Amino acid sequence: MNPSNPTAESATKPGPEPPSTPSNFIRDIIVEDLNSNRYQGRVQTRFPPEPNGYLHIGHAKAICLDFGLANEFHGHTNLRFDDTNPEKEETEYVDSIMEDVRWLGFHWDGLYYASDYFDQLYEWAVKLITEGKAYVDDLSADQIREYRGTLTQPGNNSPYRNRSVEENLDLFARMKAGEFPDGSRVLRAKIDMASPNLNLRDPVMYRILHATHHRTGDKWCIYPMYDYAHGQSDSIEKVTHSMCTLEFQDHRPLYNWFIEQLGIFPSQQIEFDRLNLTYTVLSKRKLLQLVQRGFVRGWDDPRMPTLGGMRRRGYTPEAIRNFVSSIGVSKTDGSIELAMLEHFLREDLNLRAPRVMAVLRPLKVVIDNYPDNQAEDMDAVNNPEDPGAGTRKVPFSRVLYIEQDDFREDPPKQYYRLSPGREVRLRYGYFITCSSVVKNDQGEPVEIHCTYDPETRGGNARDGRRVKATIHWVSARHAIDAEVRLYDKLFTKENPGEVEEGQDFTANLNPSSLEVIAKAKLEPSLGQAAAGNSYQFERLGYFCVDPDSKPGNLVFNRTVALKDTWAKIEKGHTAKAGRS
Ligand code: ATP
Ligand code: MG
Repeated sequence: MNPSNPTAESATKPGPEPPSTPSNFIRDIIVEDLNSNRYQGRVQTRFPPEPNGYLHIGHAKAICLDFGLANEFHGHTNLRFDDTNPEKEETEYVDSIMEDVRWLGFHWDGLYYASDYFDQLYEWAVKLITEGKAYVDDLSADQIREYRGTLTQPGNNSPYRNRSVEENLDLFARMKAGEFPDGSRVLRAKIDMASPNLNLRDPVMYRILHATHHRTGDKWCIYPMYDYAHGQSDSIEKVTHSMCTLEFQDHRPLYNWFIEQLGIFPSQQIEFDRLNLTYTVLSKRKLLQLVQRGFVRGWDDPRMPTLGGMRRRGYTPEAIRNFVSSIGVSKTDGSIELAMLEHFLREDLNLRAPRVMAVLRPLKVVIDNYPDNQAEDMDAVNNPEDPGAGTRKVPFSRVLYIEQDDFREDPPKQYYRLSPGREVRLRYGYFITCSSVVKNDQGEPVEIHCTYDPETRGGNARDGRRVKATIHWVSARHAIDAEVRLYDKLFTKENPGEVEEGQDFTANLNPSSLEVIAKAKLEPSLGQAAAGNSYQFERLGYFCVDPDSKPGNLVFNRTVALKDTWAKIEKGHTAKAGRS
């Protein structure tokens, strides 16, 4: 790890060191600009979400870069809603985006909307028309596409390209005044229809759209296109380093063209690789489909890769920031293993989640030689990673629940947990030995009879004899019931987009991504658990309280199971783990 190169987040947070600090070419650019005094020592960034959906883990990468780099160099970051598309945008999304950015741990300096700049953008468009650098085109969208040419063939000039400045000014004013129907005319920049870069072949700057905007209402019926709005918004805010994903690399010449022609503040666009995750879709359009077609319960369904869904699932902001900082940035798109994200989640929860005992699939155990009316409080450690977390009392009594999985009537080799005649340790309890099994009509065990050794209280035998397994348990009389929702991957394929002809990505949805356990048995200390609280259910995984939870009607989500496949992968090829 390069000590001079911590990200702002990793410098201040506790937690695991990311495996390595990847070379960060964006940071290098900023350092160079500071050294050459290109922006008078200023670092100004922005995070520019379009409010047409909820933020996802891909956005978290952009947020950590935009805010993290500015923080590191004592700069500023604006949150700017890129609201140039009135048909798909809603206030609900604006609110959720602000909540998610705050939750991730970042604070914006300015809060802006591209729509704040509609008047300025219009004035600048008029200026470009006046200088002969923009024109009103009457070609239809299809015709514009035809005239545009291809990567191998130059485009053709529109027959309207040489309209006079006066005519263009008049038509553009009438477009704004609402005289023309949607799609009948556009304003285009006059650049070069033969440019090898298609983005420079007279790109559309404005379209006619009679639609109500979430902030400007019906004031406008022409709306600027992304390419025209974005760079100018950056420039208005005097953004020095405007980070965006790689698909905008070919747009950079256009970004620069507008700024140069208008002679305004020269913001600089820098592209980095989009985050892709295996078994995950990260496109708001696709996520919206999952919501609208009812494949998930909503944008914050714990199976969704949205920040709202991940928060509800039990992800912590620290885990997400550590993950993002460890994947680094590059100039080529790739795909990151979902297992790696989960690895950072476990590492973080391991430090902070209190341990408790819970039985998901209960099997009754009766300890025949334990007095019926007796109960004892056993001491249990809250978090072995955090001595300050102390201990708690867990009630022990004659009838307990253990996990069905922890008993086998005919144990296979290597199975050391409970079986007839076998002795095991109850965590924080006693050694017990199975004496008999009661079965139902289907031959399934429903009640296990055991004896306990009073000399093993706390989990150790005075005579030093050993047992090979320790299992968790809950006292039946003291247990509280809870619904537990177990989640698995939302998609069965690493690349959910890989489908047969005629199918869409939903064909790869995992039919068993959610399993609901109606009546798990929990130790009584969980009676006070509040929505959002995270725990490690010993031997099972990390679980958190879902907002659906009510006193007396607890609902838990499994955040992640304990087994860490990424840690294994990482041990195997450390070199590959840092950056893929
Ligand atoms: P989507 O494809 O999910 O709709 P988008 O790029 O259209 O995403 P925006 O709201 O425009 O979403 O994105 C805001 C910022 O987040 C942009 O700077 C964008 O480049 C960045 N961003 C979006 N998706 C990712 C991703 N998967 N990885 C990294 N950055 C991303
Ligand atoms: Mg977008």
